[in-house]
Amino acid sequence: MTRATTNAAPWRATILTLHPGMFPGPLGHALSGSALARGDWVCEARDIREHGLGRHRSVDDNPAGGGAGMVLRCDVLAAAIDAAAAADDPRPRLLMSPRGRPLTQARVRALSAGPGAVIVCGRFEGVDERVIAGRALEEVSVGDYVLSGGEVAALVLIDACVRLLPGVMGRAESGDAESFEGARLEYPHYTRPRDWEGRAIPDVLTGGDHGAIARWRRAESERITRERRPDLIGPESPEGTAPIREIERR
Ligand code: SAH
Repeated sequence: MTRATTNAAPWRATILTLHPGMFPGPLGHALSGSALARGDWVCEARDIREHGLGRHRSVDDNPAGGGAGMVLRCDVLAAAIDAAAAADDPRPRLLMSPRGRPLTQARVRALSAGPGAVIVCGRFEGVDERVIAGRALEEVSVGDYVLSGGEVAALVLIDACVRLLPGVMGRAESGDAESFEGARLEYPHYTRPRDWEGRAIPDVLTGGDHGAIARWRRAESERITRERRPDLIGPESPEGTAPIREIERR
């Protein structure tokens, strides 16, 4: 059942940005786009510049102490946040930031289960530090690299949340076996043709033995995780039966 059919309030993303035209952008397509059209979630992009100062609706200024680039003003951002979300709005207030805690599937799951999020997108060199404390913004990073603005990071976060909303994904179970959900990367997938350029689908997958298929998939998940992301798995025990550490719950 979708949220719409259960009469639950839709999951609501309010995005504060200097580029509201970037939303819903790619999220207006495919699964998230259909869910948006159905009313399972709401995408509300608010232009920070509406709260800009003076004739030019200025939003940024030179960094105190000097240096390159510009900084988003705390008074302008705070006015934009206050206009977009009442003080008693239960949604978490996030600031996309390379300095934030890296986004995890556990955090995505928690956000997705809640009422939505108010998401502030930085630009230029970033935002005045005081608004982070003054409006209790939680900094969230999408990875250890620097983007030109928070919008693409916000799209990543919203996409990850929306696909977990009830009724958004075709089959409920397709969310479960996936990479990260059990601190393991996913096993390989195959479909037709059975033989392609001399590469065959592994026999076990076409043999019909569901127990054997499940064991093969577990073993492949384990092998791929050990090869690519040993950090997701605890240290090797002498017997080689390392316990799988749960991804940190946030
Ligand atoms: N001077 C900053 C980078 C600013 S990039 C620094 O060195 O830390 C401009 C904006 O892009 C940031 O304010 C933030 O909103 C967004 N951004 C850049 N990289 C990001 C990342 N990895 N995760 C989330 N947001 C990011």
